[in-house]
Order: sequence, then C-alpha cells, then structure tokens
Amino acid sequence: MSATEFGIIRRYFTRQRSRREEVLIGIGDDAAVLRVPVGHDLVVCMDTLVAGVHFPAATPPAAIGHKALAVNLSDLAAMGAEPLAATLALTLPENDPEWLEEFSRGLLTLADHYDLQLIGGDTTRGPLTVTLQAHGLVPPGQALRRQGARSGDRIYVTGTLGDAGLALCLQEAAAPWLRQRLEYPEPRIEAGMRLRKNASAAIDISDGLLADLGHLLEADCLGATLSLESLPRSDAFLSALQGLDAGKQDLHHELPLTSGDDYELCFTVPPDRCSAVARELAGLPCGCTVVGEVTRQPGIRCLRKDGSAYQPATSGYRHFG
Ligand code: ADP
Ligand code: MG
Repeated sequence: MSATEFGIIRRYFTRQRSRREEVLIGIGDDAAVLRVPVGHDLVVCMDTLVAGVHFPAATPPAAIGHKALAVNLSDLAAMGAEPLAATLALTLPENDPEWLEEFSRGLLTLADHYDLQLIGGDTTRGPLTVTLQAHGLVPPGQALRRQGARSGDRIYVTGTLGDAGLALCLQEAAAPWLRQRLEYPEPRIEAGMRLRKNASAAIDISDGLLADLGHLLEADCLGATLSLESLPRSDAFLSALQGLDAGKQDLHHELPLTSGDDYELCFTVPPDRCSAVARELAGLPCGCTVVGEVTRQPGIRCLRKDGSAYQPATSGYRHFG
C-alpha cells in the first residue's frame, strides 16, 4: 500500500468516536483482533454495493457510505444481533478528498450511532465498489433464522413498505422524506434484538416483501396469505400516489409487495406470542404490523378486502412452489 493510500485511511477512517472493548487491535496492523465476549455467538455478514448497479453513480457520497453499512446492519437486525464491528473493502476510481470526506462521514455517523467500530479493510483502485463486512453479537443459540415458521404463525413487518421503490420511480420528483427512505435506510436493529425470544423466523426486506417472505417460507416448505389492505404504507407514499394518474394506481399494491430497498424486517410469530411481541416492540418508532398468516399450502396468496385474489404484474417476482 502506498503512502497516499495509508494517508487516506488514517485521515478518513480512523476518526471514529466508538471504541469497543472487544476490539483488541483495530485499523493499522495486518489484521484486526477481536475478543468475542464469553457467552455470545458471533454473527457475520457481507454486502457489496456497485456503482451503477446498486446505486446511481451520482448518489451523494454520504448516502453511499450510510447505505453500505445500513444494508449490512439490516442483515444483522434480521438475525437479532447487536452490532459490534465492521471491515470495509473500498475500490475507488480516484483519490477524491471531497468524496472521501462525505462518504466516510455517512458511514461513520451510522457506525457511531450503533457503537460499531470500523476495525480494518482494504483500499484499491478501480470502478467504484463498496464491500462491507459486519460483525454482531447474540446470546448463545438465540440468532433469529429464516427457518422456523409454522403454519398459523402471524406474519409481521416493521415500518412501512414501498417508500424506497416509489422514490426510485419518481426520481427527482420524489418528496424529500421518500428520498431519505431510499438513500438513508434505517436498519431495524432494536426491533431485531427485541424479537429474539418471540419470533419464530425473520428476514430483512431488501428485494421486496413477496420475494423475501418467499425465502422465509421456502425454508420450511410453507406458504402464506397476505391481506392487501393491511400492508403498511406511509403518509408520504399515499399522498405521492394521489398525485399520479389513474393508470399508475396499481402501484399502491405493487410497490409494497415487490419493490426493494426498504430494509424493514419481516418476521413470523406464533399466535400465543403476539401479545409479547406487541409489548416488546411498543415504543419503537418504526412500529410493526400484522400483514398475513403462514399456511401449509405453498405459495403466497394476496387477498383484497373482498376476498378476491390479487396478482402483482411485476415480472421481477417469481412464484415459488
Ligand atoms: P495489508 O497490506 O497488510 O493487507 P493494508 O496496508 O492494506 O494492509 O492496510 C493497512 C491497515 O489499514 C490495515 O489495518 C487495514 O485493515 C486498514 N485498512 C485498509 N483499507 C481500509 C479501509 N478502506 N477502511 C478501513 N481500514 C482500512
Ligand atoms: Mg499485511
């Protein structure tokens, strides 16, 4: 590594507030050293964002930094883990101080918010690509899984669905709050941690509710019915759709079901655990909503208020089973 590269790392990536006692050696050596506290399992995940694929090249750099970490924290949340540390592999087309200043600010602000320490990484030259690996902790055996749902379990989601997808559709015309949902997703860490004891299965919604709930159900060869009217939609989502012409009104159902990038959690709860979940999650700003029920019959059936079936038009969604 050249002097400039090490300068970049020192300048932009070591200025963090959060210092975790579990980190014995952080940035600066050949590798980081962590001491996993006795009585915890270590949860590890990784996600890559490629410019032009996962975000438009013109995305504000602070949003890229935030999102690169947020998508990983969302995976930790879906496992019920508490964030601990992360490593960052950064491929940059050029040494652009302004870009790095903003990128690292977006990333480290979110890291500090969750008391997560950046403990190392790799810096290379090439087309803009950001890979993050996150590490989290759970009490032994308590990690939430995709597997574990049972027929009759209630299906929940946190927050609201379709906001990021609508922001992507509307581009510059998207209201600031919707744009914020797309560029600065808030990982549902606190919700995930509170679900450890009561959820039977969990997944985060990165590719749309139907696709991700599909993965959860597939793990146990199950299916589901979803109630369209119960899908949680934000006020910003509803008022933005009011402004669109009649031909676009299908987006009302379609986006919450099929659009990605919401980074909410989808989880299942046995009926006798629902009141405990309501208690545990009460007071979290994101809230949670029951949207359906797990069935023995495979496939996901979306039902309108009158009981008739709704089939989303989007080709991106593949039925399973
Ligand atoms: P090596 O050559 O031994 O692989 P490097 O010279 O690439 O190590 O990195 C020096 C130190 O800087 C290491 O501790 C590494 O983890 C850290 N580092 C490199 N790139 C980044 C980055 N983008 N973010 C955080 N830490 C980084
Ligand atoms: Mg080395």
